[in-house]
Amino acid sequence: MIPEEEGSTKMPPERPVMKKEHISRIGQAGNEALLSFLYPPRCPVCEKLLPAQSLSLRRLREQGGDRPSAAGRIHPACLAKLRRVGGSYCLKCGKALSGPDQEYCYDCRHEIRSFEGGRGLWVYDEVSSDLIFAYKYRRKREYAPFIADSLYDAFGEWIRQIRPQALVPVPISARKRRLRGFNQAALLADLLSMRTGIPAKEEALIRLRSTAPQKGLSRQARRENLSRAFAADAGALEGISRVLLIDDIYTTGSTAQFCTQKLLQAGVRHVWILTACIGAPF
Ligand SMILES: [Zn+2]
Ligand SMILES: [Zn+2]
Repeated sequence: MIPEEEGSTKMPPERPVMKKEHISRIGQAGNEALLSFLYPPRCPVCEKLLPAQSLSLRRLREQGGDRPSAAGRIHPACLAKLRRVGGSYCLKCGKALSGPDQEYCYDCRHEIRSFEGGRGLWVYDEVSSDLIFAYKYRRKREYAPFIADSLYDAFGEWIRQIRPQALVPVPISARKRRLRGFNQAALLADLLSMRTGIPAKEEALIRLRSTAPQKGLSRQARRENLSRAFAADAGALEGISRVLLIDDIYTTGSTAQFCTQKLLQAGVRHVWILTACIGAPF
């Protein structure tokens, strides 16, 4: 037994202690208030200022949560302009279908699909592509919570059903990240991770190079290029068999397919896709 040092039993008078989680919660609330003062929230569709109370902390508390639903971050009339994929959609990728008699979209009927299934929120039209363009290329990172909350509001239940163990964003190249300052899919994955409690694993997939100049290449050469552009980090995926891949836009599905292939090669068993915008049928 270690003898107690003299005087060690004298404890300093107890002072009220602020626990770490209190400090961080206050910090978050303060940050949100400060941010909306410095950057008053703008509607992601018309980019005009939103009424001040739409993000007020008091109103959020009244709603019983510390995070607003997507609807509080956009004018109702502007929300109505974003066309949701509804009615019949491709049973594989989630793309809207032109008729109720179809089960799969053109691409899913003609291409190999290694992912289990996918869902997309908005039809990729002028309104949604403007929103994504602003978010991605005009660095409107403040639109990310609206996009992520919209995804969660629409597909939270679906995510619970498919039970992914990790949210993996489609990667961008280091060069693009330097230019853009952030990976738009990774930011959405992080915000969805906060809502769902499922960890986001940005490091699981790496984009080795951009594949921009693809013109003049054959379909096969383009495919090989794209396949070589991605790599998966098996170490980051250890013990993970179910992955939800996150991206901002889904068009032909080639990127989703190649990312899925790399994840499967790294030991993942099942992959699903979730995207904010998804191409219209043709
Ligand atoms: Zn608006
Ligand atoms: Zn499809």
